[in-house]
Amino acid sequence: MSELHKFVFQGQPVRGMIVRLTDAWREVLRRRAANSATGAYPIPVQTMLGEMLAAATLMQGNIKFDGALVLQIFGDGPVPVAVAEVSPDLGVRGAATVNGPVPADGDLGTLVNMNGHGRCAITLDPKTRHPGQQPYQGVVPLADAGHVKFTRVSEMLAHYMRQSEQLDTCLVLAANADLAAGLLIQRLPGQGTHNLSGSLVNRDDDELGELDDAFQRIALMATSLKQEELLTLDVDTILRRLFWQEALQRFEPLEGAQGPHFACSCSRERVARMILGLGQAEAADILAERGEIEVTCEFCVAQYRFDPVDAAQVFTDASRLAPSGSTPR
Ligand SMILES: [Zn+2]
Repeated sequence: MSELHKFVFQGQPVRGMIVRLTDAWREVLRRRAANSATGAYPIPVQTMLGEMLAAATLMQGNIKFDGALVLQIFGDGPVPVAVAEVSPDLGVRGAATVNGPVPADGDLGTLVNMNGHGRCAITLDPKTRHPGQQPYQGVVPLADAGHVKFTRVSEMLAHYMRQSEQLDTCLVLAANADLAAGLLIQRLPGQGTHNLSGSLVNRDDDELGELDDAFQRIALMATSLKQEELLTLDVDTILRRLFWQEALQRFEPLEGAQGPHFACSCSRERVARMILGLGQAEAADILAERGEIEVTCEFCVAQYRFDPVDAAQVFTDASRLAPSGSTPR
């Protein structure tokens, strides 16, 4: 069962989380392997996507926000796109596109940032949007200020949180075919600061100094966690080994129905909107060529088929629903 554990260090301005995606992650991989058009992920892509999903779950667990958290990498290597998405109730889904050969020892740099043009976007997409409201988006570079390419998802995201959110963060991520897991340690935001909402941080130097000491000590212990340990040890053992000297306050783990689980938000209605977006002429071209419009969801491999009658219905419904003079969306 997939699980998300939250804890705080008593008396210290530091909090932490551990996620273990087991069944949810295996379902992502099982569906991908069942897609005859793509087949299973090469191992390095599987590792990257698993780490992205673990990280996205930690980030969603870290904020109070009623909407999806989407971590997207747009690459310039053999993986042009990788997406990890987590809904507020911890429904997770993820997918990556693989174009061309993947080196057996491929890392973040070689998979998505070969020529230094790769980038990552973190999007908070509210469930209900006001008219004209854009989702919040932060862009994450795939190299540090000295142009040194990140080789791991954890380095990239910790760098992003330090730069954009002003939150000192320590991340350890790991994934194999059975488990995608992550440990996040973060300095608690002080008064008037917000996570992921881009507000200014306003604190004096003394206070920052004290916060730093506690955080640095705890972060040092956290980074001593090896990926192999994260993949093989249970949460109790990890916390005991790393933080036996600290007073930890743990919260009820989110697991089972409340925990992370595989979920896909695709629907026939969404595919219909996509066909509408193509426009009538292009839809007609596809129908003339193939006899139907077939769309396979890249996340859950659900297949949606629209024959000429279904497709005509999509455009008829849209013209009926849209107020005169406006363009159907
Ligand atoms: Zn789907």
